[in-house]
Amino acid sequence: MPQIDDKLAPIYEEVVRRNAGEPEFHQAVREVLESLGRVVAKRPDYLEDALIERICEPERQIIFRVPWTDDKGRVQINRGFRVQFSSAMGPYKGGLRFHPSVNVGIIKFLGFEQIFKNALTGLPIGGGKGGSDFDPKGRSDGEVMRFCQSFMTELYRHLGEYTDVPAGDIGVGAREIGYMFGQYKRLTNRYEAGVLTGKGLFYGGSLARKEATGYGNTYFTQAMLRTGGTDFDGKRVVVSGSGNVAIYTIEKVQEFGGKVIACSDSSGYIVDEAGIDLELLKEIKEVRRARISQYIRVKGEGNGAYFVKSGEGSIWDVACDVAMPSATQNELTGKDATRLIRNGVIAVGEGANMPCTPEAIRTFQQAGVKFGPGKAANAGGVATSALEMQQNASRDRWTFEQTESRLATIMRDIHDSCYTTAEEFGAPGDYVIGANIAGFIRVAEPMRAFGVI
Ligand code: GLU
Repeated sequence: MPQIDDKLAPIYEEVVRRNAGEPEFHQAVREVLESLGRVVAKRPDYLEDALIERICEPERQIIFRVPWTDDKGRVQINRGFRVQFSSAMGPYKGGLRFHPSVNVGIIKFLGFEQIFKNALTGLPIGGGKGGSDFDPKGRSDGEVMRFCQSFMTELYRHLGEYTDVPAGDIGVGAREIGYMFGQYKRLTNRYEAGVLTGKGLFYGGSLARKEATGYGNTYFTQAMLRTGGTDFDGKRVVVSGSGNVAIYTIEKVQEFGGKVIACSDSSGYIVDEAGIDLELLKEIKEVRRARISQYIRVKGEGNGAYFVKSGEGSIWDVACDVAMPSATQNELTGKDATRLIRNGVIAVGEGANMPCTPEAIRTFQQAGVKFGPGKAANAGGVATSALEMQQNASRDRWTFEQTESRLATIMRDIHDSCYTTAEEFGAPGDYVIGANIAGFIRVAEPMRAFGVI
């Protein structure tokens, strides 16, 4: 098991003590600190002024009550969060997650990852994250709207295009962003387009934003494959999830000649050996908002098409060359990794945030599987959010091709900077170390310039 350098171990112990009961946050911090030992060995000046301790402590954490009325007239109470982690690189930037599993530890792990991810994009955005334990599943449009309005009625005072710019994450898409933008606009009496990203295309949204996380992970994973002299062409690919990230990963992998044979949601997974029918998947998930088993119901079982209920198997049982976990944190365990390796996996690109457990990452890396950590591989979403902010600031609108070509360049640059940083710090091929170190250095420099704040 990788160790935390002696000089950094007390920082980790303090994070655990101070943030009791937040295991995902501890996990995210631990992974970064394990990488930073190599930095302080070479550059002990990064230990000065408590730079590393400071980066582990959010600048501000906001927790608030979100009361709203459901369709039966009953009052519901949820909890809202916004963790403004680091504004060293620019305004706090990161998504909002609406899911019953949300708590302060989840938001903190996501916000912490976001600092380094955003720095890796090379664009001027700080790190933050927010959300609520609200469960949009089964709620009517009216209920979602009233929830979003109440959520924004508290959050708006903490936002601003130069202060904090949220976007979507699990459970938050264009519908929710629309309701929140409307409420922000009403409360402030300002058409401040750059205060939220992931907006609809009719009012300041960017073309290619919806596709960006999935496309970006595909570009990143392609760059990893190319370092081994191969590409997506003819590869069997498994993409977990079936939300925004998964759907547009499937689209790009198919365009690159790969064959995606499985995807999932929380109710189970489907396999289609003929290759996932993307139009059908989009219809079921984006239009009908239905369960994934509907895909097999429409297609008909047989000829290598089937559904496996959750709890009765794992999507990682499906043999593939490339795995792209795009559902949620810690969805791929050490055991799953061992099975994937036995079945011949050669590359893993994380579309979700922290989907592989530390044991899974170790297992992949020891077996020589190319592993792209989420904070690098899935940075395309937030990078394109920053491009949306650029378009809003200049009151301009770019074409799909223009936006996607910038995204592609950004993803290749992220790949290359992780790759060369890993080499420079004595860990060739280790994208985890490369991403953590390259991201950290970019944030540490402005922090130092600003003095002790
Ligand atoms: N939720 C996405 C992420 O995890 C996007 C955040 C954003 O666009 O601000 O990076």
